[in-house]
Amino acid sequence: MERIKSGGKRLIMMKITDSFWAEYLRLVKQTVVPFQWKAINDDSSVRVEVESANAPIPTEKSHAIENLKIAAGLSEGKHVGYWFQDTDVYKWIESVGNIINHFPDKDLETLADSAIDLIEAAMESDGYLNTYYQIMAPERKFKDLHISHEMYCCGHLIEAALSYYNATGKDKILKLACKFADCLDANFGPEDGKLHTADGHQEIELALIKLYELTGEKRYLKLSEYLLDVRGSYPECFSYDYFARYTPSFRPKYLQAHKQPKNQDTAEGHAVRLTYMCVGMAETALHSGDKKLLEACKRIWENITTRRMYVIGGIGSTSIGEAFSFDYDLPNDTMYCETCASIGLVYFARAMLNHEPDSKYSDVMERALFNNVIAGMGRDGKKYFYSNPLESVPQANELSPLKSHVKSSRPDWFGCACCPPNLARTISAIEKYIVSTTNGELYTHLYIGYDNELLLEDARFNIRQTVNYADKLKVQFEVTTKTSVSAAFNFRVPSWTSNYSVYLDGKKIEDIIINAGYIKIRKEWSGTEKVELTFDMPVLRIISHPKVRANIGKNAVQRGPFIYCAEESDNGPDLHLLRMTPETRFTEKQLDFIIPPALEATGERMLISDDWQKTLYVYDESPQYKPASFTMIPYFAWANREVGEMLVWLNTK
Ligand SMILES: [Zn+2]
Repeated sequence: MERIKSGGKRLIMMKITDSFWAEYLRLVKQTVVPFQWKAINDDSSVRVEVESANAPIPTEKSHAIENLKIAAGLSEGKHVGYWFQDTDVYKWIESVGNIINHFPDKDLETLADSAIDLIEAAMESDGYLNTYYQIMAPERKFKDLHISHEMYCCGHLIEAALSYYNATGKDKILKLACKFADCLDANFGPEDGKLHTADGHQEIELALIKLYELTGEKRYLKLSEYLLDVRGSYPECFSYDYFARYTPSFRPKYLQAHKQPKNQDTAEGHAVRLTYMCVGMAETALHSGDKKLLEACKRIWENITTRRMYVIGGIGSTSIGEAFSFDYDLPNDTMYCETCASIGLVYFARAMLNHEPDSKYSDVMERALFNNVIAGMGRDGKKYFYSNPLESVPQANELSPLKSHVKSSRPDWFGCACCPPNLARTISAIEKYIVSTTNGELYTHLYIGYDNELLLEDARFNIRQTVNYADKLKVQFEVTTKTSVSAAFNFRVPSWTSNYSVYLDGKKIEDIIINAGYIKIRKEWSGTEKVELTFDMPVLRIISHPKVRANIGKNAVQRGPFIYCAEESDNGPDLHLLRMTPETRFTEKQLDFIIPPALEATGERMLISDDWQKTLYVYDESPQYKPASFTMIPYFAWANREVGEMLVWLNTK
């Protein structure tokens, strides 16, 4: 196979120069990847916690590498963990591929090669690979599709293969991924004698498209189209009992099998499944031209972002099942907001930007990435959240069975460890989300500093973007080209600003052209030229749609891309007694453990007089407040100090 670079447009690896994100890349390289290797190899220093009290499987250790060894006949024992435990290894390899693009490392490659050898040894001769079914229930292969995750696992192997192959040029894992994909193609499809169903957990669809883009093998595109078409096409598509025992309405919506995806209008069911499905739909439509799939994506996007998304870019409102519920149902303390679901939302946004550069997608991509997604990892790179609350009271998390999934501090690892390696593979590929090209124009979606070389309209450009988030966001976009070329560069106007200016080579542009939320600059470029953008970054008080019951009378705070929260570490307990007033003002405050500044807010605290010692309720009394100031920190940084309360939505006068 010929080595092809992603999109065919990138000439060199995009170099991240941004201080905030470059630090994350270093953390992934130096700490996260080595730590996660220890975790999947059952190192005794890694403590594995159950993700919630209703977890269906005992999860005392990862066993992910050991499962592969057993399936390969190199070790003995039973499978431990979920049906999809193999994906923890695949995502780790994908992270390795991504990170050695930034930091070449032969030792790390050798380690990844050893894992790939193990995958090869465990794979059956027809390409089948799922260690749970191979070890525990070979007679049930492809018979439990609603729960088995067999195709989901193949999807993650494909993604790992593409990352590792692109980074190293080594094609062993790519051949294994193709072999597994060919096994699926031999078993699933509309033809007689094949299975007429899809996987309960979407992922394979989007992965098949990536594999098709690399190999040009049309069977992979066709299979993705088929899997998206067969889903929900007949009532018994999935007979799913596990979550249906909690609420019958979960079935078959939980697996997005209530209608064919192209006919779906709203975001239903398990949030990660839904977003991965939408990515598969959008990417398939890009190649097949299927407008119905794309239109369904747009309807679902609209439903999520105007009715079912948290202010931190989180999704999944139910305390059991990590699922969507109904419009405006956004409880702050029993939600799921799974890290993977927010990552899925980032992927969904990015896939839609390939169709239509519109800031309604990139604004949400930024919201999810800078808040819910990175909150999923502690500052040390060795602790992770699965669910991400907007309101946390440690005692309630501990004592309420409804909140067993809400952790007050980040565990090392989970029995269901989907989130930690998903974070690693996403952060290590941050460059994928910054820009895209459409119709020969460059679109800047995220203000992250980078250096890159790219082709636009067959002309070669060197781009250097530097950003400075201070009292304003200042972006310097330097373009160098050897010839004189006409091209268009587009810059997103973030939803959190209404005041901005644009300078071209020191001259202010007065007639700014805005298209779908992007500033467009089309001109003849030659030599080195500079675009300077300045966006005001005021502290904003957010209110929710009045139908969001949980947030009535409350404000959240945002500055630039960051949502803020109050923590007990700065403010003492009983954060619900704090309130903002119409006079509330914010000033910057630098804390030593995070880069973006904290905010010191003026406000009030409700007094609890001694009379309350004797009673729970009184008649006709107004609560008393005293002036109080309080500190708010960027949400992503919460739970990095002592365990305590946290609150995003604060009461307001
Ligand atoms: Zn997850």
